[in-house]
Amino acid sequence: MNASRLSAVRGEIVHFLADPAADPRALEHFADGVLIVRDGHVAECGPAAALLAKLPSGTPLADHRGRLILPGFVDTHVHYPQTDIIASHGEQLLEWLENYTFPAERRFADPAHAAEVAGFFCDELLRNGTTTAAAFATVHPASVEALFAAAQARRMRLITGKVLMDRNCPEFLRDTAETGYAESRALIERWHNRDRLLYAITPRFAPTSTPAQMALAGRLFREHPGVFLQSHLAENRAEVDWVARLHPEARSYLDVYERAGQLGMRALFAHCLWLDDTDRRCMAERGAAMSFCPTSNLFLGSGLFDLRRARALGVRVGLGTDVGGGTSLSMLQTLNEAYKVLQLGGLSLSAASGFHLATLGGAHSLYLDDRIGNFAPGKEADFVVLDPRATPLLARRSAGCTTLEERLFVLMMLGDDRVVAATHVMGVPM
Ligand SMILES: [Zn+2]
Repeated sequence: MNASRLSAVRGEIVHFLADPAADPRALEHFADGVLIVRDGHVAECGPAAALLAKLPSGTPLADHRGRLILPGFVDTHVHYPQTDIIASHGEQLLEWLENYTFPAERRFADPAHAAEVAGFFCDELLRNGTTTAAAFATVHPASVEALFAAAQARRMRLITGKVLMDRNCPEFLRDTAETGYAESRALIERWHNRDRLLYAITPRFAPTSTPAQMALAGRLFREHPGVFLQSHLAENRAEVDWVARLHPEARSYLDVYERAGQLGMRALFAHCLWLDDTDRRCMAERGAAMSFCPTSNLFLGSGLFDLRRARALGVRVGLGTDVGGGTSLSMLQTLNEAYKVLQLGGLSLSAASGFHLATLGGAHSLYLDDRIGNFAPGKEADFVVLDPRATPLLARRSAGCTTLEERLFVLMMLGDDRVVAATHVMGVPM
């Protein structure tokens, strides 16, 4: 091994080789482990006793013993233009959009404002241990440019796209079916697959796009294999009723997207609360993914996600913060609320399943598990270092733990940005 291109970290390593819900041996654990990074990618991961002996002398080694090293978190649904309206009081979805979201998004017509928020947002993601995100921008192409540029400067994996919205929204946020198509296509050509950046065609949700715009978004999706499509689906009951009135021809809300050609691999739908098993089966068959956003679903009073049915029918599921409808950019806090939501449905999420959802499971839902999500050799070396003694209460509670599962569960219930000791992107501390 050429020492100059290598670096290594030592600590307690936890990652997943598969889904622990399906395979109990999926969690790999090295109590005293070393992760070796070569040129930003995982070279090797294993017990310190074996790997330290192989490291060429002079290889930089960061010592994080006493801390956990996990793959970087994957946030599969978040809105960067809503950073400044997080924790706004009192509304459910449709009034939330009208009263808080649309006025905040209007400001992104200004590229300087977009750049300032995009930089802050990316830094906050990293401070929370999130190294990959699928984010909404606004209807303004400049808002996409700003977020891609901020992520590129930090070498992050980031998926975003221009929001498509040509009806049922304020005039100042409206595009047209044709301008939305043309602007999206230009952004795909400029940004998709540039460094670690990926484009998502982004119809906000069925009510705010005309059938013409929905059809053109579906056409874009077909014309650009490898490009993502992200939207919202069945979040709130008033929204579901509205869609039923707007689309009497459709069997269900999901069917509106299906008819527009928007289902397929790399199609990602946030929430998916008010679905039936026909919808879930259809999503599974088409390879579309759900983003489970528990803090948002509770905060906006939207409903309870049914992970059990999604799993039973084989739908890909990732975890999303959905800030600003969500109340935290921390994936640990998101896991905390995921656990509570699932408890209300009679499912006790294990810590292993929780951390899998936040890492490899999220990567799988985005069809990125060949590149990120665990420490298999060749993967992009994004990882987070967590300190289980970051607060007095955590230190006290962690000291009483006897198993790894218990320690991970304490972290997912009590942890937040305070436990993130370091975040590395492509092997480099940020
Ligand atoms: Zn959302």
